Formats: sequence, C-alpha cells, structure tokens
Amino acid sequence: MSEPPQLLLGALAGLPWPVELRIHPRARRLRLALDEPRGLLRLTVPRRVSRRAALDWAAQQSGWVEAQLARIEPAEPLAPGATIPLDGEEVLLRWDEAAPRTPRLADGVLSCGGPAERFADRVARWLRDEARRRLVEETRILSARSGIADAPVSVGDAGTRWGSCSASGAIRYNWRLLLAPAYVRAYVVAHEVAHRVHLNHGAGFHALQSELYDGDVAGARLELRRIGPRLKRVGRA
Ligand SMILES: [Zn+2]
Repeated sequence: MSEPPQLLLGALAGLPWPVELRIHPRARRLRLALDEPRGLLRLTVPRRVSRRAALDWAAQQSGWVEAQLARIEPAEPLAPGATIPLDGEEVLLRWDEAAPRTPRLADGVLSCGGPAERFADRVARWLRDEARRRLVEETRILSARSGIADAPVSVGDAGTRWGSCSASGAIRYNWRLLLAPAYVRAYVVAHEVAHRVHLNHGAGFHALQSELYDGDVAGARLELRRIGPRLKRVGRA
C-alpha cells in the first residue's frame, strides 16, 4: 500500500515548481519528473529512503529542472508581434516605423518605432527602466508607510533571486518582476523591505513581512515560483 500523494508547497528552496512527493513501494531509486500540465515536480521515493533525504536530494536537482524547463519551453525574444506578460497581463509588442523610438504602452499594446533591427534592445531597455521606476516607487511607498528608513534600490537580472537586501539596506530586484502580477511583485517588495529591519528569515522577519504584505504570502510566493520560469524566458533570443 502506498501512502497518498502529498503536496509540499514552496518547501524546497531553489526549485521553480512545487513538489508532489510519492512514496512508492517498488521504486528502486529517487526520481524526479516534470508534470508539465499540472506545473508540478513529481518526486518518487523508495520506501526505505527517508523523506528528509529525498527532499535534500530533490533540492539539489535545480540545475536539471531548469535545463528541462528551458528545453520544453522556447525562449521568448522581444520581437514585433510577440506577446509578453506585463503586470501579469499579456501585452502585444508592435513595431511601427512611424512611431516614436521610445516604447509606449497603451491598451495592451507596447508600440515602438525606429529601425527594426534595434527593436528588441529598445524594448528591453524600456522594460528595465520601467521596472526600476516602479520598484523604486513601490519600495519607497511601503517603507514610508511603515516608518522604515529609505535606502538605495536598483534592478538587475540575477540568476535565481528575485530580490536581495544587503547589510547596508540596499535592495536589488530582478527587473522581470515588472512582468509579474502586481500582487506578486508587492510580496517581493514587502519581503525585501522587511529585510531592512531583520537581515534573516526568523520569526520577527516573518511577522513583519505579513504586516507589510496585504495578502497571502504563501500564495504569492507559490505563484512567483510557478510563473518564474516563463518570466526568465522573456527577452531571451
Ligand atoms: Zn529573504
């Protein structure tokens, strides 16, 4: 008799999808598989392997998981006619030679003029600038509202992290958060602003994070994990 499947939501740092753990009486070894339609990683565990050991093993497979995801899902270059997520909504990229070179967003369309061969560069720069502008503003507003001191905010494209906070309080975000729904971005902002007070993930940190975030922290984190792989493909040729 096998135990019923168990969902481990957000339990494994470094893995982009939630893991469904299944104890299998006849399994000979640990196995991880992508369940693409359900957006899950299925972890098969032989009966004699401890759950702890199985999860430790799975957490080390992030490189393999990322590689699998990159293979099944194509890159999403910033090309005219393509759609990309922005604030969680699909936005059409349109090239119009007569339009201004600075991209403009209106009614679900991001229009950009100028030479076609520089289209992707201009859109990429605009996305990054827009991300910086919004994340700086969202961080400033949340900090001010909670009486937490302001500190420098920058954006980059760090591999696996969506945000980080240095000992001096400087926050760095991944610009791709602009592509995520606002409530997901707000969760990352609340997380990093909470780090300005607690540079750890202790009880005090979690209490402050919940106070700063006006929503379901676990739900937002899980959604970011689910959509993360796609956000990372946008703009890759
Ligand atoms: Zn943290």
